[in-house]
Amino acid sequence: MAFLFIDVDGYCAGGVDQRRVVSPGADGYRARELGWAYYTTDGHASGGVYFRDENVPPLASGRKGYDPCVSYTHRLHGLPVDPGAHDFAGEVVMCASRLLEAIRAVHDAVAHVTGSEVVFVHKGGHEGLWAGQAVPGAAAIDLGAHGCPRVDDIGRANPGLHVGLQCEFHAPVKRRARKVVHCPRLEVSLLAAWVAGAADEKGAGA
Ligand SMILES: [Zn+2]
Repeated sequence: MAFLFIDVDGYCAGGVDQRRVVSPGADGYRARELGWAYYTTDGHASGGVYFRDENVPPLASGRKGYDPCVSYTHRLHGLPVDPGAHDFAGEVVMCASRLLEAIRAVHDAVAHVTGSEVVFVHKGGHEGLWAGQAVPGAAAIDLGAHGCPRVDDIGRANPGLHVGLQCEFHAPVKRRARKVVHCPRLEVSLLAAWVAGAADEKGAGA
């Protein structure tokens, strides 16, 4: 069995169904980063896939004076809101409309490399829904239903597991050192540490 942790960061214009991935024909959720990490009894590996709006409708300008870039900067924890062709250099970059394909590709690669059945693991959000759409019939575990604390709480109690460990694309944001940057690649490692019992939960929920 391979446990494949996934976490997606991105955003959605107001009034648009967040569960629907943006497509060339309709607005929807615009992924920016998919973090993944798999664990088996034999080993583990991790990585990320990044997204930009290549073949989908331009960012909604919304009501007058409304700037989605300002509005979503905080939510994206410094990731580029509307990345261009040269952002995310050196990484796998796909159009945001291909989020489900990206999840399927990671799943299939992990299944191939490990020769194992792959079980998705996520915490809340829409990742479980998307995993089921990407790989029909795949098993998914929502850690939120198993008492997993907020990643902020896991991180706050375990600075060594997160400080400075976010991926390089979160632009400098003035934050206290112990504040957890919501980087998907970092979040999956924090969730995995909690599952493994490696995370000190002192202060969790505080
Ligand atoms: Zn990141």
